[in-house]
Amino acid sequence: MNNLPPPERIATRKAELGEGFAIARALPTAQRRTIGAWCFLDRIGPVNLGAGQGLHVGAHPHTALQTFTWMIEGEILHRDSLGSEQVIRPGQINLMTAGHGIAHTEDSLPDATRLHAAQLWIALPPAHADGPAAFAHYPVLPRWTVNTVDCTLLAGRHGALTAPTQVYTPLLGMDVHSASGGTIALTLDPTFEHGVLTLTGDIAIDAQPWDSDSFAYLPPGRDHVSLQLGAGSRCLLLGGAPVDFPVVMWWNFVGPSREAIIAAQREWDTHGPRFGDVPGGTERRIAAPPLPWTG
Ligand code: MN
Repeated sequence: MNNLPPPERIATRKAELGEGFAIARALPTAQRRTIGAWCFLDRIGPVNLGAGQGLHVGAHPHTALQTFTWMIEGEILHRDSLGSEQVIRPGQINLMTAGHGIAHTEDSLPDATRLHAAQLWIALPPAHADGPAAFAHYPVLPRWTVNTVDCTLLAGRHGALTAPTQVYTPLLGMDVHSASGGTIALTLDPTFEHGVLTLTGDIAIDAQPWDSDSFAYLPPGRDHVSLQLGAGSRCLLLGGAPVDFPVVMWWNFVGPSREAIIAAQREWDTHGPRFGDVPGGTERRIAAPPLPWTG
């Protein structure tokens, strides 16, 4: 074992999604904006839903990013301005590429009783940031088990495996779960930075117990990590080459500059053609908050 620096602890923050739905936000925070091009990470649940409860996010726009939804428990209906309509179920990914602009809604199904998901954004590099919008659903992903630890490859490559999800920068996404508990040593790309977020239960990183409300940041230069999972525990491992392009974020927009985001927000505010209408979503159009910048 070489002398690896210990992971950096980054406290997640409480935030709200949709109509008062509490979540834990791991990215961005004041301490860390990105892991590779992963620029947003919310842990949604796990939570039991009472009658009539659920996640309901009205029509809102995105630019220059991909939204990446990893479903663990429950179902969410995605609808967007391209006309896509897709229910996402456990073990599946929805990947929406905003490019120049797209709008979407996200809703729990009426009979939902449980919800647990990770919602991520990926900043698009300059060659794709203003490209065409797209939506893809991935119902089948590479899965394998080492000892008693089950892994699912969500993005990028691991060993001989490649995830089908179409991304535009070097990235890794992996779900690691153990029903009975167990330990796994994973090989990492030393040119990547990495992050680990507990999704349920208790984990240890390189044999050090990890607080489930903290996101772990592992700087580049590391070629392995050991993850120890308690019974029923689950975590998300992210990685990527540190971004070498500007990533400005405001509300639901990503862009190369404040000017690009100001232009996108004006277009949303004025209901311009850049963001189409979401079928069934026009009466639930979310207004953007005032821009934080003058000029
Ligand atoms: Mn969204």
